[in-house]
Amino acid sequence: MSETADVVIIGGGIVGASIAYYLSESGCTNVVIVEREARQGLGSTGKSIGGVRAQFATPINIQMSLFSIDVFSRFEELTGHTAQYHSFGYLFIATNEKHLHYLKANRELQTEQGLRDVRIVSREEIVEILPQVRSDDIVGGSFCPTDGFVDPYSVMTGFTAKARARGTRLLLNTEVTGISTDGCKVRAVETSRGAIETRAVVNAAGAWAASIAKMIGIDLPVKPLRRQIINTEPFDLVPRRLPMVIDMSNGFHFRREGSCIMMAWPEPEEIYSFNTNFDRDFIEEILTRAVNRVPCFEEAQVNARRCWAGLYEVTPDHHAIIGKAPGIEGFYLANGFGGHGVMHSPATGKIVSEFVLFGEPRTLDARPLAFERFAEGRLLEETAVL
Ligand SMILES: Cc1cc2nc3c(=O)[nH]c(=O)nc-3n(C[C@H](O)[C@H](O)[C@H](O)COP(=O)(O)OP(=O)(O)OC[C@H]3O[C@@H](n4cnc5c(N)ncnc54)[C@H](O)[C@@H]3O)c2cc1C
Repeated sequence: MSETADVVIIGGGIVGASIAYYLSESGCTNVVIVEREARQGLGSTGKSIGGVRAQFATPINIQMSLFSIDVFSRFEELTGHTAQYHSFGYLFIATNEKHLHYLKANRELQTEQGLRDVRIVSREEIVEILPQVRSDDIVGGSFCPTDGFVDPYSVMTGFTAKARARGTRLLLNTEVTGISTDGCKVRAVETSRGAIETRAVVNAAGAWAASIAKMIGIDLPVKPLRRQIINTEPFDLVPRRLPMVIDMSNGFHFRREGSCIMMAWPEPEEIYSFNTNFDRDFIEEILTRAVNRVPCFEEAQVNARRCWAGLYEVTPDHHAIIGKAPGIEGFYLANGFGGHGVMHSPATGKIVSEFVLFGEPRTLDARPLAFERFAEGRLLEETAVL
């Protein structure tokens, strides 16, 4: 294989797909997405539970969500494909005053940033939304009806299909093995099937991003962290129209997927690794928390074969790293989304396409997400991490 491209995107997950879509929207179609797997979605994108929310604690995360949720709500019109966006909301439940105060402060910031519908809710309102909840210790919460969920796989394939219809190429079964430079400029991407000459390379390699950055000598602080999901058998004892519900006392959260309930809990003992084995003991761990908050979950049946684990791609301040890589012209970063890469994929695609085409972002001020923030000690603080 001997190819040339204006832009090479490493990684065919939802982030790489969105970048290709926004490049193509601006007329940049001599683009190659390089994916080592036989099909898209085998990285974190296919493992995600698709939660989408603007209830964050920093302006940049709120702005990224506002842009992205607008795109999800118009996805079909924009791409001709469905995102399966369900605006069923996110309900945060507080069981102490500290958490409630935190939700109130976040709500003020979110409103200032332009999120209109987020509101603080009382215990009674929470019981109205979820009558099966154990409410004796609940002091309040927050709810935003435009939050909800999408189908990550559909978003990824929708972005990809539209970009490909405009000329973008997708190379599957092709592993990036190196990046060549002319001193301080990118020259080519080396792959298991030959080189692709290019002046612009985007690292969209998800949890594997640090190994790609290392190819040009950059130490990227992105680490893989296992997250496990359980999926119940059909369960109809909670409402059909259920928001994503987050118990702030321990981070346990759940949502409906069709007739089943998907449950997650950020195991605090998990250590950084590429382990994606599902641990059967996790079912008991999570169901204990589930039954504690929603007693009727005692009736839920779980088949371990329908549960899974995947990788978050974590940075030291739980914010993405987006922008130009230092010291190498033509190398761009779209990494470290933690548990937010699906929901922030549209904004990321837009921002990265603008970095590549115009040298800087125009739609959103992405400066807080620059790689340099770590060396300069400008770390962000996002406490609304799940
Ligand atoms: C259990 C779980 C639940 C989650 N829930 C949510 C949620 O509710 N909401 C949300 O927004 N996010 C969620 N996330 C996070 C989200 O899934 C990720 O942030 C997002 O999928 C990252 O997308 P990506 O395209 O960057 O990475 P990926 O989808 O991992 O894609 C990267 C691709 O790069 C490829 N690649 C790597 N190295 C190479 C190489 N050398 N050569 C070629 N290709 C390479 C990989 O094969 C992979 O396909 C969740 C994640 C997990 C694991």
